[in-house]
Amino acid sequence: MDHIKYFEKTLKEVCRKTRTRMPAIAKDNRLGKNYVASVFSGVSIKTGKITYFMRYNKNLINKMSKANILHVICHEIGHVRTTTFECEHKRNKIEEEYKAERFALRTIKKHFPKQYPHAIQYLKSFLDDYDRDETYKKMAIRVITEMEPK
Ligand SMILES: [Zn+2]
Repeated sequence: MDHIKYFEKTLKEVCRKTRTRMPAIAKDNRLGKNYVASVFSGVSIKTGKITYFMRYNKNLINKMSKANILHVICHEIGHVRTTTFECEHKRNKIEEEYKAERFALRTIKKHFPKQYPHAIQYLKSFLDDYDRDETYKKMAIRVITEMEPK
């Protein structure tokens, strides 16, 4: 299966298993070149309901392993499930990334247990990645310590 189809199929599966309303795929799919995926929210003028949108970078998805695609999806759904989308100046980015990632690891452990050791490994790889933003390194240490206490 190609990676884009796998992404869309897995997004549906993760939403079903975590009882999360499917985000709409954003028509405007522009993302910074280093971003794999992101979710954002908007309020419908017609219904007044909050809608979630998913953007994803097809070029990067095509280069990723399927295990990492699952991880990214669970992380983004973690943002939908745990994060109140606030104004930029109010954001506590480490806290938001930590909550989303903790949701991702718990979801993988519960619903995709075979992928769980890989997910921990992937998170550990952040710590040795010189290009990785400090926010994500701090978040990774916190989640690993919580999920895998020594
Ligand atoms: Zn995130």
